[in-house]
Amino acid sequence: MLNIVLFGPPGAGKGTQSERLIEKYNLVHLSTGDIFRANIKMESELGVLAKSYMDQGLLVPDSVTIEMLRSELTKKQEVSGFIFDGFPRTNAQAAALDEVLLTFKTSITMMAALEVEEEELKRRLLNRATTSGRADDGDISIIENRISVYNKETAPVKTFYQNQNKFISINGLGTIDEITTRLFSAIDTKLA
Ligand code: AMP
Repeated sequence: MLNIVLFGPPGAGKGTQSERLIEKYNLVHLSTGDIFRANIKMESELGVLAKSYMDQGLLVPDSVTIEMLRSELTKKQEVSGFIFDGFPRTNAQAAALDEVLLTFKTSITMMAALEVEEEELKRRLLNRATTSGRADDGDISIIENRISVYNKETAPVKTFYQNQNKFISINGLGTIDEITTRLFSAIDTKLA
């Protein structure tokens, strides 16, 4: 199996690039943000809980997020691989992911981290707000909170994968096509 963690701060382009990767490598896309938003739309108990954190730009607690991901993974057997988008966001989530994948006799192949500077992230998110309809994209104080949570709680997850020799840094600036080309080349090198 090919299991990729597509990593990066909010606005780095994870969702956009995931679409390209699932097509080329025939992967199943698992975006925790998308799953939370679907639950908010359905007004499920999980959705109500997740919304209270997402509206502030905070992380949904690990216990809730990990259980949700475990149940999504269990539903999807017989696939050629996964792309994890927006997960793991803490070291505890990364450790839990390793453990769950082990029960499926597989593991993470690589983490590809899209690197984009802060001012560009803010520009992209405010621009995305005009079409995404996401309340957390349109408010600069929520955006700043999300970036600061990323720097404090999520960025350390890079070290988790560096220690396993699975970390690859990708320049996240440029056109969508340029960034896709860099990702394809990093993945193909890893697979070679
Ligand atoms: P995203 O769509 O990845 O930008 O995620 C939107 C929001 O959903 C985040 O700001 C968090 O509040 C929540 N979220 C998504 N994924 C996770 C995760 N792995 N752990 C905790 N919270 C998450």
